[in-house]
Amino acid sequence: MARAAARDAPAPPPELVERARAVTERLLRKYRRPRVALEFSSPLELLVATILSAQCTDERVNQVTRTLFRRYRSARAYAEADPAELEALIRPTGYYRQKARTLIACCRALVERFGGKVPDRLEDLTSLPGVGRKTANLVLGSAFGRQAIAVDTHVLRVANRLGLAASRNPDRVEEALMALVPRRRWTAFTLAAILHGRETCTARNPRCGECVLHDLCPWPEKTRHAGAPAREGGTRRRKGAARAPR
Ligand code: SF4
Repeated sequence: MARAAARDAPAPPPELVERARAVTERLLRKYRRPRVALEFSSPLELLVATILSAQCTDERVNQVTRTLFRRYRSARAYAEADPAELEALIRPTGYYRQKARTLIACCRALVERFGGKVPDRLEDLTSLPGVGRKTANLVLGSAFGRQAIAVDTHVLRVANRLGLAASRNPDRVEEALMALVPRRRWTAFTLAAILHGRETCTARNPRCGECVLHDLCPWPEKTRHAGAPAREGGTRRRKGAARAPR
C-alpha cells in the first residue's frame, strides 16, 4: 500500500529532499555499518527474533534465541512445536502465549504456502500471520540485503522530529521516507535511525545538545533539550545502565 501510494504522491520539495539526503549521510558517518541488534543466521531466525522483539529488548531476545534456535531449526519444527514447550522457552520475552501462537501459525503458513522457506517479497511476507510491514521490511533489508524502510517506534519518532514525516501512522511515515531518502540507503537509514533514536533522539529527554543532526533538525523543542543532562525516565542514567526497551 505504501509503495503504491508513494508512486501517486506529489514529489516532495527539493529542499526537503536535500535535507533528508544530508541527514542520511550524516547518520551514516556516525553509524558506518549499522546492523540490526538481533542475532540471526538465516531469514527464518530473523523473522522469529523480530516477532519475539515486540515489547521486549533486543538483548533479552538474543538471550532467548541462543537456546531457541538450537531447539527449532526449521519452519516445520516451529509449525509442529508443542505450544507449552515453546511458551516456556520464549517466556522471558513477555506476551509469550500470544507470541507462541503467532510463531506456530506463521511457520505453518510458511510450510503450507512457501515450502518452509521465508519468502523475499513484501506481499508474501505480510501475508503471513503476525507479520506486518515493519517486520517484513526488517527481514527484507537485513536478511535478504534488499533496500527497505522499516518504521519502528524509533524511526517514527526520529522522522517526525526531523520534519521528514508528519504522521503517527507507520505506513505514512514509510511512504514519506521512501520519497525522501535515497533508495540505495533505505536499509542503512532505517538501521542508523533506530540507533540514533535509542542513543540520542530518545523519547524522553533527547540529547539534542550532543546530536550530530542538530543544525538539520527543525524540532521546536530541541532548544529546550540542548543542554539536557543524560537522563532516562526522570533519573540520571548511570554509565553502563540498561537502555530503555524499544
Ligand atoms: S536535535 Fe534533538 S530532536 Fe533533533 S534529531 Fe537531534 S536529538 Fe532528535
